[in-house]
Amino acid sequence: MVLDMFKLDGKVAIVTGANTGLGQGMCVGLAEAGAKVVGVARRSCDETAEKIKAIGGEFTTVIADLSTTDVIDTVISEALKAYGRIDILVNNAGIIKREDAIEYSMEDWDAVCAVNQKEVFFLCQAAAKQFIKQGEGGKIINVASMLSYQGGIRVPAYTASKSAVLGLTRALANEWAKYDIQVNAIAPGYMVTNNTAQLRNDEDRSAEILDRIPAGRWGTPDDMKGAIVWLASPASDYVNGFTVAVDGGWLAR
Ligand code: NAD
Repeated sequence: MVLDMFKLDGKVAIVTGANTGLGQGMCVGLAEAGAKVVGVARRSCDETAEKIKAIGGEFTTVIADLSTTDVIDTVISEALKAYGRIDILVNNAGIIKREDAIEYSMEDWDAVCAVNQKEVFFLCQAAAKQFIKQGEGGKIINVASMLSYQGGIRVPAYTASKSAVLGLTRALANEWAKYDIQVNAIAPGYMVTNNTAQLRNDEDRSAEILDRIPAGRWGTPDDMKGAIVWLASPASDYVNGFTVAVDGGWLAR
């Protein structure tokens, strides 16, 4: 039956940036569908752990700073230690640094691209190696952005890195489809999280953005649940290299 195709019972998902925001929403969605979740974050994921415990799910935290690739082996080995296998990787952790392009520093550029782009590729590579070793395929879901499609204002490194995420998702999907690994992405629209606090605090920008969203509201972490469960489950086994917008219609305007 079709609803059974969305079930994640027995699957193990790694989600980066699991302590808050969209990462937390996706952790809870995956757990609600039956997955055991390994949340990766710089600090404790107590709130996420509590939400998952409340629905009778399984969750474990791996503390890691994803601004360096040195932690990748630990992330994979800790996930294996906890649950013995990995079936799903969600590359959600990301940062944004705002400044006029004319003044943008190399330091900010490197910081944003390290987390949003380099780490994403090497985590994909490490997870794919594990999927190939297990021999049962796997799912990778990267978190892109509206700025994978548009230029944005005062966020050149973010736009470059999120545009890279869209391209990388296609590139890896091509190479790894033969291993039954599906690589896809979700492009969230304007969502209520820490990432957009500065925008939402700016009354004019906030009103401008809201006015352009056909759905008439900002998105929430719960809005990510449907797309993440679909892309993490057998229901999307013939979907490869696609970026799904969860944006209240922003891109349709
Ligand atoms: P957020 O700032 O609330 O969450 C970002 C997450 O990334 C946090 O868990 C944070 O701890 C983690 N993170 C950042 N740097 C890290 C590091 N060095 N090591 C480990 N973890 C690190 O924002 P969010 O909106 O929930 O963002 C989640 C993802 O969604 C990001 O990739 C963001 O770019 C993307 N996104 C957000 C929006 C939005 O409107 N909120 C829109 C499009 C895309």
